[in-house]
Amino acid sequence: MDVVTTRAGLRRLPLRAAAFVVLTCTAIFGISGWREWSSRDALLKSAEAEMANLARSLTQHAEDSLDLLDSGVVGVVSRLEMDGTDPATIGKLRNLLQARKKAIERIHSLAIIDDKGNWLTSAGALATTLNDDEFFRHHQLSPKREAYIGHPVRNLLDGEWVITLSRRFNRQDGSFGGVVLATISASYLANFYRQFEIGRNSSVSLVHGDGLIIARSPDNAKYVGRSVADKPLFRDPALQGPGGAYHFMSPLDGVERVSFYKRSGRFPLVLLATVEKEELLAPWRADAISRMLFVLALVMLIAVIGAVLVKQLQRGQRMAAALEEKEAHFRLLAEGSSDMVTRIGLDECIRYVSPSALRVVGWRASQLIGAPALAGVNPDDLPQLRAIVQAMKRGEREEARVTYRSRHREKSEIWLESSMRVTRGVDGEIDGVVAILRDITEQKNLESRLETLAIEDSLTGLANRRRFDECLAEEWARAYRNRSSLGLLMIDVDHFKSYNDEYGHPAGDACLRLVAKILATEAHRVSDLAARYGGEEFAMLLPNTDAAGCARIGERLRQAIREAGLVHASNPSSGIVTASVGGATCRPALERTAGTSSLIESADRALYAAKQSGRDRLVMSGDVLNLLPKASGL
Ligand code: GH3
Ligand code: MG
Ligand code: MG
Repeated sequence: MDVVTTRAGLRRLPLRAAAFVVLTCTAIFGISGWREWSSRDALLKSAEAEMANLARSLTQHAEDSLDLLDSGVVGVVSRLEMDGTDPATIGKLRNLLQARKKAIERIHSLAIIDDKGNWLTSAGALATTLNDDEFFRHHQLSPKREAYIGHPVRNLLDGEWVITLSRRFNRQDGSFGGVVLATISASYLANFYRQFEIGRNSSVSLVHGDGLIIARSPDNAKYVGRSVADKPLFRDPALQGPGGAYHFMSPLDGVERVSFYKRSGRFPLVLLATVEKEELLAPWRADAISRMLFVLALVMLIAVIGAVLVKQLQRGQRMAAALEEKEAHFRLLAEGSSDMVTRIGLDECIRYVSPSALRVVGWRASQLIGAPALAGVNPDDLPQLRAIVQAMKRGEREEARVTYRSRHREKSEIWLESSMRVTRGVDGEIDGVVAILRDITEQKNLESRLETLAIEDSLTGLANRRRFDECLAEEWARAYRNRSSLGLLMIDVDHFKSYNDEYGHPAGDACLRLVAKILATEAHRVSDLAARYGGEEFAMLLPNTDAAGCARIGERLRQAIREAGLVHASNPSSGIVTASVGGATCRPALERTAGTSSLIESADRALYAAKQSGRDRLVMSGDVLNLLPKASGL
């Protein structure tokens, strides 16, 4: 992967992180929702299973009840067919019917009806009060001898709804003899079903094959006899099987229900066990809502934390980009600069150095990284430089500018000027120093050349008048402090004007250079200073020298000039170049009123006296009065 791709990837990182957070939140919420929905489905499935079991057992109960009724009816039918319907037989059978009715609770009534529809006898509150004799007409018209389950009918006497089971009995000749009827009351069934109530709004209904409700729990009285023949349970082809789950909006109470229907295989009966969906799901819904609220809070927490992290990521990226830009600017400046830019760590080793190091100190940047920053510094300059760096590291100085000598890889020693500034890390703590180094060797050389020019006489190379004045002041002060003696000799070439006239000005210059050379040679001590005082007049400053010493040196000088033997035809006394010397000494600490000018004046006066007394001689200031003629006024 190249750098561009990596950078683009990093730029998209916050977007990807945000997408990840959204995906995570959606996934958590989605999975939780799906789980809740699955548990709802499981709940409905278990309700369906429960309803299925109930429907199967109650269908079995209905079939068993009808079988029980039928067994009694079958017995009566065979007695009637054998013994006929004479009153004696009917009387016996009445007792039988009553005994049976008493013995079996679920039998509402039993009756024998003749071929005209007359009620021969009955047990239970039946008599001739049924609102419909459809079962009788069925047997009258049909020769079939099996049991017939009729429509639910209402007993007009007690208002009780009953389900009828009847069989036809024949006469000896095979013609229709009448009907034996047995009934079960709807309220018995409803009461029985009430025991199976599994919820506040569950219901169990037994419906006749033609759609009339036979019994219902609860509210049997309200719904029994109603027809649901036009409802999907009887109309929808998908619901005409032997049994199955069935979700519907109840036509009776308008409540959405989960149910299971079971059709009897032997009788025209359908049993429908239902439970209200709303009631069934209510506990699940309450739990699901609280769980989903918890998940929602969790998701929101993740989203908030995610948003904060994404923000931090963005801020970090912005900072990194700014840093990168800053770094790029720094490199551009550092690497484009002719100066050597270095970054020094707290261990005083070089962390970074710009390529111009090769030009400035002769080393490649790669050779310098990790090397001690102060290596190669002239030992004389090292303590000062080290002290500055230490002060910067301690935070006592923010910046510094220092010049020092350092080794160059190829050249001899060079002068460097270093501008230093402390650097701080993100925590604000000092983490190093940035130093910009510039080679100032040429500048330094020029400076020293100018310095020399400022203090040197160009013709003779001796100190000039300016330098002499400075030195005189310094040495005067030192002599004052040390209570020592300071000597001064003034030397003037004799008849120099005529030398010039005779030999020309360039020869005069050469003569002055020769005298200067002699003076420089005679200035033995480091502190002795030979200077050109002006024209053909020289001075020799002799610190820490008393009058005798001063006189000895003056004499030596005079001798040396003479011994040089430079021809000077116009010098009347000797024919060679000679000089007169005036000397003076002073103890500044003892002569409080004296000053540098008084020392010069004394030496000058002595020189004048030397001239006056014949030239080519030394006169010390102490001897002046003895030598000068009274007329001179000195
Ligand atoms: P004295 O013995 O009394 O000192 O006489 P002098 O001729 O040496 O003294 P004066 O002061 O009359 O003359 C000094 C001469 O020195 C005058 C000037 O032309 C000459 N002179 C001064 N400076 C220079 C210089 O730099 N080069 C040359 N060639 N001559 C110089
Ligand atoms: Mg002169
Ligand atoms: Mg002279």
